[in-house]
Amino acid sequence: MNNKKNIFQQILSKEIVTDFIYQDDLITAFNDIKPQSPIHVLIIPNFFIKTLNNVNYKHELVLGRMLLVASKIAKKKNIDKSGYRIVINCNNDGCQTIFYLHMHLLGGRKGNNIFF
Ligand code: AMP
Repeated sequence: MNNKKNIFQQILSKEIVTDFIYQDDLITAFNDIKPQSPIHVLIIPNFFIKTLNNVNYKHELVLGRMLLVASKIAKKKNIDKSGYRIVINCNNDGCQTIFYLHMHLLGGRKGNNIFF
């Protein structure tokens, strides 16, 4: 078994220093280190889920919380009216690079309709 923590586990355990935007009992949000838009926030569960393929009914609350908090952060950052995009990448074709489930909140500029 591989016990090495990945980047997001290290962020949660504060081995990597990151400004948390939001944290509660279920989820944590922080700025993406390489923002793709003026606002680029990552929202992760406080416990390890590898990809969206690994979710089950027990995760309904945490998945719902991720979306709810995304909308609250969007409002707080004043991009709710202009709009934003929520992205979850899954596995290779979905361009997932960090294998710890996370949701991207992207906004602050006009996006485009290109899938990838
Ligand atoms: P994905 O391609 O969906 O797996 O996205 C992974 C995201 O994690 C990318 O947007 C990276 O820029 C971001 N990232 C990688 N390392 C860090 C870090 N130390 N702090 C914040 N974001 C990170």
